[in-house]
Amino acid sequence: MDYFPLFLNLKQQACMIVGGGEIAVRKLRLLRSAGADVTVVAPELCDEMLGLVKAGEVRWQPAEFSLAQIAGQRLVIAATDHPSVNQAVFTACEAAGILVNSVDDPAHSRFITPAIVDRAPLTIAISTGGGVPVLARHLRAQLEALIPHGWGDLAKLGSELRDLCKEKMPDTASRRAFWENVLAGPIPDQIFAGQVAAAHAQLIDAIENRATQSPNLGAVYLVGSGPGNPDLLTFRALRLMQQADVVLYDNLVSDAIMDMVRRDAERIYVGKKSNNHALPQEEINQLLVRLALEGKKVLRLKGGDPFIFGRGGEEIEELAEHGITFEVVPGITSAAGASCYAGIPLTHRDYAQSVTFVTGHRRAGESDLDWPRLVNPTETVVVYMGVAQSGYIAEQLIQHGRASNTPVAIVERATTQAQRVITGELANLAQLIKDQHIKPPALLIIGDVVKLHKKLNWRTSSH
Ligand code: SAH
Repeated sequence: MDYFPLFLNLKQQACMIVGGGEIAVRKLRLLRSAGADVTVVAPELCDEMLGLVKAGEVRWQPAEFSLAQIAGQRLVIAATDHPSVNQAVFTACEAAGILVNSVDDPAHSRFITPAIVDRAPLTIAISTGGGVPVLARHLRAQLEALIPHGWGDLAKLGSELRDLCKEKMPDTASRRAFWENVLAGPIPDQIFAGQVAAAHAQLIDAIENRATQSPNLGAVYLVGSGPGNPDLLTFRALRLMQQADVVLYDNLVSDAIMDMVRRDAERIYVGKKSNNHALPQEEINQLLVRLALEGKKVLRLKGGDPFIFGRGGEEIEELAEHGITFEVVPGITSAAGASCYAGIPLTHRDYAQSVTFVTGHRRAGESDLDWPRLVNPTETVVVYMGVAQSGYIAEQLIQHGRASNTPVAIVERATTQAQRVITGELANLAQLIKDQHIKPPALLIIGDVVKLHKKLNWRTSSH
């Protein structure tokens, strides 16, 4: 190990920054967030630093660096543009035994600063020993994505309840067992979902009752997985995918996304193609209830957004009736994915002031779409599940007054490597679908906004 890692308590400690530019501002902000009492030495300051001086965040000594200034300092950072000044600061501090860092110059530093993932009070510091800072930053970005912000709240709750814990559970072993149970249970997830107050109350309750065994409560996470491209998952979705005991998924969830689910999670395919359900909806609802009652963390993964033509509402109604904990995580709905990845804005000042999402799927006994509402030329209509009925849909729209030459786009497997975009006119929508052998999942985008596709298409794979 080239450097000894440590966390320094700098509250109200005298610290000095030599230099008054942007880098100095960054260092100042960091020192201030740790509560240090900072003086900046520089003949001139940049505007931002000047503002911070005026705001009382930092004291300013308007002068060139000189040896006498470092007396009484705990820590000094040299952040000037002049290597010779930074080196002089280093030499002076070394002689006086003061911790010193020259920005981006490990040879003239006693300590170096790490890349930080800040979930205060939880802090993760990463260092490559000053050699390849970009590598540390890269790793930091990955950790940022991986570690929910709620970890900070969790750490804070833990330290707030420390005394109470000690009082109720005097021996270390039972405290450790208690916290391990808490971490394995539903409380962290509650915090990550923003329900800090409820988690707090539950924790106090558990501590008061000296419950070392938190009940093994199952929960269901109804999660939108987006239109198929794994890059379009939310952080929350990814985290839950990596924690699940069991995953229920259907054919809209791409293989690339299923590959990201925790390896040893049980996988249950529940099918669902239009009119050809591998498991009837009622059975899916019951299965979710049963698995949760067994104490499992159940992930119900859905294509797109769970509340847009996803029957997500029905699934959680059943859970609510059984008093089962559940959470709903939004996903990018396929209309939004198709729109962006095909370069077809769904609204546009010149072409469309509104957009309507409809389903083209018809079931016996169900009422038809409200066609007169869908013929406004300044409105974009996006049809989900519309491939099979495309002929009927086009015919009805035209019959009710939408121009037969209204531009249309068919976006197949939107956002994935296999995306295809076919454009044409409303009158020959069904023919296009037939000629191009379009297969679900595909969306129909109807309206003048489709004219923009030629200009705004940024994907090479479109046709
Ligand atoms: N909840 C989903 C929609 C489920 S309905 C969402 O928010 O996107 C199923 C329909 O969604 C499909 O028939 C198709 O019209 C559309 N769809 C889903 N994923 C798609 C994709 N990657 N490309 C094009 N259409 C898609």
